[in-house]
Amino acid sequence: MKKIMAEPKPTELKTSLQKALEFETKRDAIRQQAKEETITGIQEQLAQLAKLGFHYQLVEAGAPPKPAKPAPKKDGEPKPCSICGFITVPPHDGRAHRSQQSKAPFTEAELAALNLKKA
Ligand SMILES: [Zn+2]
Repeated sequence: MKKIMAEPKPTELKTSLQKALEFETKRDAIRQQAKEETITGIQEQLAQLAKLGFHYQLVEAGAPPKPAKPAPKKDGEPKPCSICGFITVPPHDGRAHRSQQSKAPFTEAELAALNLKKA
């Protein structure tokens, strides 16, 4: 009785880890492709809705919200002083430091004298 020897397969030198990593990569690529196809489909349908006058958006859940429009600057908003970097009540600016010989943050005593409090 003759046994037919199976053709020798190319030696599998890949470790299980390599195989697992390759599989992961392939899976990710397939998932990414599936996602893109699905999104394309949804966007086509959204376009159909838009033609009917219904405007919807596809938004990823948990995606960071788009930066809100910068709030219009209020004139009354106190800005930190350019010299000491503090916002005080009432606010002051660099001009308040004119009396100082060397420009430095106000000491507690100076703040008291100028009737300012650190905010
Ligand atoms: Zn200051």
